[in-house]
Amino acid sequence: MKQVYLYLLLLFSITFNAQETISCGTDDFEINLNAFPPPPGELTLVDNDTPMVFNIFFHYVKNSDGQFTGLPDLPGYGVSEIGILNAVRSLNLSFNPHNIYFKYLGYQIINDPTPNGSYTNLTQTQNLIDEYAHPNAFNYFVVNSIQSSPGGLPVSGFAMPNSPNMFFTKGIFTDNTSQTNLALTAHETGHVLNLRHAYFGFNNAQNCERVTRDPLNPLYNATTHGDLVADTPAQPDYPCCVQTDCSIPINDTTHTNYYGETYENINIGNFMSYLLTCNRHFTNGQAQRMHQSVLNNWNYYSPCMNTVESLYQPFEAIGIAGSTVVSIQNNNDGTANVCRNLLMKHRFQPGFTYEFPDSFGEDPLAANVNQVPVIKNNTFNFRVKIQQLSGIHYETVLVNCSKMVICQNEPYIKGMLISTQTLLALPI
Ligand SMILES: [Zn+2]
Repeated sequence: MKQVYLYLLLLFSITFNAQETISCGTDDFEINLNAFPPPPGELTLVDNDTPMVFNIFFHYVKNSDGQFTGLPDLPGYGVSEIGILNAVRSLNLSFNPHNIYFKYLGYQIINDPTPNGSYTNLTQTQNLIDEYAHPNAFNYFVVNSIQSSPGGLPVSGFAMPNSPNMFFTKGIFTDNTSQTNLALTAHETGHVLNLRHAYFGFNNAQNCERVTRDPLNPLYNATTHGDLVADTPAQPDYPCCVQTDCSIPINDTTHTNYYGETYENINIGNFMSYLLTCNRHFTNGQAQRMHQSVLNNWNYYSPCMNTVESLYQPFEAIGIAGSTVVSIQNNNDGTANVCRNLLMKHRFQPGFTYEFPDSFGEDPLAANVNQVPVIKNNTFNFRVKIQQLSGIHYETVLVNCSKMVICQNEPYIKGMLISTQTLLALPI
């Protein structure tokens, strides 16, 4: 019944374009095995100042013909590195204020024979994980469609229980991904880091969080019920009454919880809610729970973690031909084998404010959070600074390619090289 309810709301949302909602298949059970507060004797955390870095890896799941199946491919629904990098940027911007960071490792395209690319039960998704998941990363699988339970309706996102693996319906990571879809990515990642829905248990006796925020009130149970986070107000799954300025908390008098209480001071747009029209955010209490969950379950999370220093390094470094011609060997067929100096092209993940003080040529000296900076002219080590991590600290990217060459056949006529797309500049 709940699935039908969600589906109707989604239809309403699409038809009237009034409220941007999401549908998440992860509900009413604990993602991991953590309890909060931690059992006596376990690690405790005094603040959220310790940076935590998690590797992330993306998978596009297609059929054996290299296409999504079951539904026609719409423009922009195919593989898009831009779409993935949008998600990388958004994840970092969503979590960085709380000292949680993500290191993009890359993506792969999977051809999988699952009928119609439609994953209808946990056995199918587990098979995909077993075969393809990166063992040292949070995995983001994009499939044709996903159901979290047999017979249920498709959802747009789903975090596998007890697993750092998430599934998304195709079209989530596109060149022009909506802010709501990007927020869905943060939402599912929040589950992986052990967050419950902010409305968890709102309609049942076992888990219902009372509305009162007064710890002295005998009804107060915010730390033991609902999402177990004290600074997320009790709320229904779909709050009413979004205002023009949705940063102003609302009182929802049209819905009641299990105890018949109406809701007060709901902050619209919490990532773990279903209403992500604006004001998308995690609370400090949610950040605390994520950090605490990692520390309490170090063996579970640590294989997917990386160093802060890794954030300064490019996610890709590939050799490209420079502009200096080292040798030309005429092939006598209209081409010549041309060897040029080898440069390393470094690309850095978006979502950070960079400085590259050693850059020259067309390489940038700085980049903002929306850019994917490319550094390719340095033939020796160069420095990187990231504003979000430290305003003063530099890390070094190692480059050792100055004496190597890269050779390829290029058009060649009577002693003249003709331009090719791979060249940065034409020799005369
Ligand atoms: Zn969810």
